[in-house]
Amino acid sequence: MTALRDIRAKFLDYFAEHDHEVVQSAPLVPKDDPTLLFVNAGMVPFKNAFTGVERRARPRAASSQKCVRAGGKHNDLDNVGYTARHHTFFEMLGNFSFGDYFKEEAILHAWTLITREFGLSRDKLLATVYAEDEEAADLWKKIAGFSDDKIIRIGTSDNFWMMGDTGPCGPCSEIFYDHGPEIPGGPPGSPDEDGDRFIEIWNLVFMQFEQMEDGSRKSLPKPSIDTGMGLERIAAVLQGVHNNYEVDLFKRLIAASEDVLRSRAEGETLASHRVIADHLRATSFLIADGVSPSNEGRGYVLRRIMRRAMRHAHLLGATEPVMHRLVGTLAAEMGEAFPELKRARPVIEETLRAEEERFQRTLGRGLSLLEEAVADLDEGEALPGETAFKLYDTYGFPLDLTQDALRAKGLEVDTAGFDKAMEKQKAEARASWAGSGEAAPDAVWYAVREATGPTSFTGYTTLKGSEPV
Ligand code: ATP
Ligand code: MG
Ligand code: MG
Ligand code: MG
Repeated sequence: MTALRDIRAKFLDYFAEHDHEVVQSAPLVPKDDPTLLFVNAGMVPFKNAFTGVERRARPRAASSQKCVRAGGKHNDLDNVGYTARHHTFFEMLGNFSFGDYFKEEAILHAWTLITREFGLSRDKLLATVYAEDEEAADLWKKIAGFSDDKIIRIGTSDNFWMMGDTGPCGPCSEIFYDHGPEIPGGPPGSPDEDGDRFIEIWNLVFMQFEQMEDGSRKSLPKPSIDTGMGLERIAAVLQGVHNNYEVDLFKRLIAASEDVLRSRAEGETLASHRVIADHLRATSFLIADGVSPSNEGRGYVLRRIMRRAMRHAHLLGATEPVMHRLVGTLAAEMGEAFPELKRARPVIEETLRAEEERFQRTLGRGLSLLEEAVADLDEGEALPGETAFKLYDTYGFPLDLTQDALRAKGLEVDTAGFDKAMEKQKAEARASWAGSGEAAPDAVWYAVREATGPTSFTGYTTLKGSEPV
């Protein structure tokens, strides 16, 4: 069995041998990009190289980039524990060409790596191409020897990538692995494509146009390549398992969770253990990159992920903080590839413990309230927005936590009602502070925050010297 860490190394070695500069993962908090919550793809740290703003010494790069998809445009939070292939935190392996090689070489590298180096069988693989991209379809025939039925043409934006409203863009081609007919799900482009039989492992983006402000597109004189492959997904394939949560790293994280919680991961408890293992990674890496739990922005995303995990620990019987006791296992597994985990371990543990202690004071009572409210619901009725708001306001339940708790029962929240209750409270708070002559506490808090920046935690960089970011 090839361990996850060896797969990462093999990927980077392959591209190093083919003249790529191996670049360390950038931190999860994007540098100079207030529009983006977290780095969510391997290309993010290279944006300026693709637009031509930055000229890199070498025109090829490869990385294993830390990604978080738990808010904003990409939000996989609700998929975790339910699909076989989604995490909130994952590593995206990628190779990049900045105006150097293009489509043919990109497909050739991907194909060589997965079939020759990793030994995957052609019979299990298929590719999608953008419907208008005849060139890519021909290349798949030529390089992989795919028959027409293995090349799926997709005409939607799923297979056309754009950096933004303007700028570089172009067609994509995605490589899928067929995990076998016993798993529900159809091929890409079919009505049941969201199933987990055919799993997308690698996305190749061919940046060949520039989107202009007037809506037109012009061909780039020097097209570029951006690719992304989920490390955990390719690890599942190579380790002969279907589910990402069954790869070696996750097995050990889940074993630690079983140990600490004294609960076997099977049947009904399986999803909770998976959520805990996933959220442990996301929260630990976010804290290591300087995010701390708060009530807005990045810090609130972190808090939501932490509290979701804590509810699942509670479901498994936890009466005391447990998440911080899993950090050691994570640091042992991933600390070599990501030394920041080891460096920040005390901060991660302390942040998790404090947050869990705090939330545990209200979690149990909030859940009882939720249960009573659910018992009062009529058939098919959604949980009233005011109840969800009370859980938020008094018991510290983020809305998505309440939704996650109800999902197992097939119930939903009246979110419009929640928004209304939130607005009402804000208006009341404004009214009661107006005229008092003092600044509202919120305003003071935001002013402090403004001055210290959105990720004001600097403890570990100031203590340990400058961090190469
Ligand atoms: P999917 O359709 O399965 O949600 P995607 O099309 O959103 O994937 P991309 O944005 O193309 O994914 O990202 C490139 C690669 O990163 C994917 O091919 C996949 O291998 C991996 N990936 C994407 N999202 C996740 C996730 N939430 N967890 C683990 N790996 C992921
Ligand atoms: Mg997705
Ligand atoms: Mg996809
Ligand atoms: Mg994709």
